[in-house]
Amino acid sequence: MLTISCSYSINTPSDAKDAVRPLEIPIGKQVSRAYFSIMRKVSLGVRVSFWIVFLICGHCALCGSRAADSDFTAARRRMLEEQLAGPGRGITNERVLAVMGKVPRHEFVPVEYRALAYEDHPLPIGHGQTISQPFIVAFMTEKLEPKASDKVLEIGTGSGYQAAVLAELVSNVYTIEIVEPLARRAETDLKRLGYTNITVRAGDGYKGWPEAAPFDAVIVTCAPDHVPQPLVDQLKEGGRMIIPVGSAGDQELYILRKRGAKVEKQAALPVRFVPMTRKKETAAKP
Ligand code: SAH
Repeated sequence: MLTISCSYSINTPSDAKDAVRPLEIPIGKQVSRAYFSIMRKVSLGVRVSFWIVFLICGHCALCGSRAADSDFTAARRRMLEEQLAGPGRGITNERVLAVMGKVPRHEFVPVEYRALAYEDHPLPIGHGQTISQPFIVAFMTEKLEPKASDKVLEIGTGSGYQAAVLAELVSNVYTIEIVEPLARRAETDLKRLGYTNITVRAGDGYKGWPEAAPFDAVIVTCAPDHVPQPLVDQLKEGGRMIIPVGSAGDQELYILRKRGAKVEKQAALPVRFVPMTRKKETAAKP
């Protein structure tokens, strides 16, 4: 588990209770004392000007954040029209489109990439990993045929964005990420955004999540070189799995359906995902 600890030590003599402690004045009191001592010394005109500037700055800050929100809303609408439902893309599931138009993708990308959050490509999320292109998220979600009562397993939490999209459409999402700091960050972001039906685990997703199985659907967002048998085993009868399979530069997205002892397999799209790794990564890459 990622622990951020902030510790400091003080050498405490045995007679510390007798030591003279510095006078502690709360920061709020310090500010108000400074304010009144300055204001006593200046004229009424300066006081009025101070308050006018203060109120204008506050108003501008509020308008700025509202403008940024409406920019993101407009960008999300454009993403929907041009990249998802537009010509040559053809996402038609109304529920999927509605959710893609609602989930704040910019909240899942590093601050420096927020302005690009709704562009037609993947983006770096740190640790050498990426958040998938919006079209791929919508395409995989649509092909998974999500139902409101479904329990879904995701392998490759990454930013948590795909999990959030699914969580709006199904009953419960279980998601596994092998890079622990990514798992912890996604967990924090998802909690902050109010998602209560997503459970994040740090670990190797190849083995699935046996304690939470069986699943109605499994979505894999990193590419193994074969379909992991534990994931097939943890699917319900009639369950669906969407998974990219292959080596770098030669991957295909497959849709699988479990039918008794058999698994129906259908190739859907050539893709390029980060590989599924089997060893726990501990090196903290930028
Ligand atoms: N679904 C993500 C994008 C994932 S990128 C999103 O919405 O942002 C693929 C992720 O799979 C990476 O974060 C990578 O660390 C993770 N991954 C790779 N191998 C894995 C494994 N064996 N188990 C779990 N996660 C794995």
